[in-house]
Amino acid sequence: MSVHPTDELPSRTVLLAAPRSFCAGVERAIDAVERLLDAPGREAPVYVRKQIVHNTHVVAGLAARGAVFVEELDAVPEGSTVVFSAHGVSPQVREQARERRLTVVDATCPLVTKVHSEARRFTARGDTVVLIGHAGHEEVEGTLGEAPGSMLLIETPEQAAGLEVPDPGRVSYLTQTTLALDETADVVGALRERFPLLQGPSGDDICYATTNRQLAVQAVAHRADLVLVVGSANSSNSVRMVEVVRRGGTAAHLVEDASGIDPAWLVGVRVIGLSAGASAPPDLVTEVVEALGAHGPVTVEELTTTVEDVAFQPPAPVRGRA
Ligand code: SF4
Repeated sequence: MSVHPTDELPSRTVLLAAPRSFCAGVERAIDAVERLLDAPGREAPVYVRKQIVHNTHVVAGLAARGAVFVEELDAVPEGSTVVFSAHGVSPQVREQARERRLTVVDATCPLVTKVHSEARRFTARGDTVVLIGHAGHEEVEGTLGEAPGSMLLIETPEQAAGLEVPDPGRVSYLTQTTLALDETADVVGALRERFPLLQGPSGDDICYATTNRQLAVQAVAHRADLVLVVGSANSSNSVRMVEVVRRGGTAAHLVEDASGIDPAWLVGVRVIGLSAGASAPPDLVTEVVEALGAHGPVTVEELTTTVEDVAFQPPAPVRGRA
């Protein structure tokens, strides 16, 4: 009788992209809800308009601790406390909060607030403002609300080329904070061709966290056979990370958590690049590494492309509450 040894599982390298996972805006927003939930003697519910950040695990964790997530403010009882999500809100939502006498804790990321300010400034000087972004995204809806009559939303170079505006000499652009760097450059290029006097923001609207995570995941992708990005399907920056890797020619998948790994993806793969979007908790990355270990021995390396040291103050109403 011959004995066949058990097939050895292949060993792999997991190449962690750094930076990855939470950004300063997401940490600030989650922290704001936690401060309210942990307030001594709290009895009233803490309402949160929309997902505080686009991550299923974060939202479920806060809901389990007592946060009540609502889609719109009419679901919040008058006089209650409500948190606005990191993605920001339109002036119309702020007005509705005033009408309902709500106490607002505004967890809008300061880098989204900056885009809102630019929208107000550009439209106030008479420009048509072209917002580059994805229709239906909460951040885009909030920004467009700053001047609905003077702003246009586009996503592609083709849309830029076909734009008609009242005065082609008075056009400026802004972008959603979580777009792909390469695609956005193409759209801005097409806009500039269409409107040679095009004005833009003084700095890039695509935020530091989006930029850093895209560059980091591209760096690991250069050495990887497969890239996994941890994040929720509605997380714009996470989806963009997968897309930029695929455009570079490396297979990539978005996974909500370790349960999303399809073993078929790992066949023939020796180096797995791993990152997480700005709204994905770091412990999910650890769980993915552990889950990969079930498919064969893994050696973990980290590739750091930049070190982040950004931190934002908590929103004023919860500042000073530990
Ligand atoms: Fe702010 Fe950028 Fe994080 Fe969005 S991804 S919360 S804009 S830092």
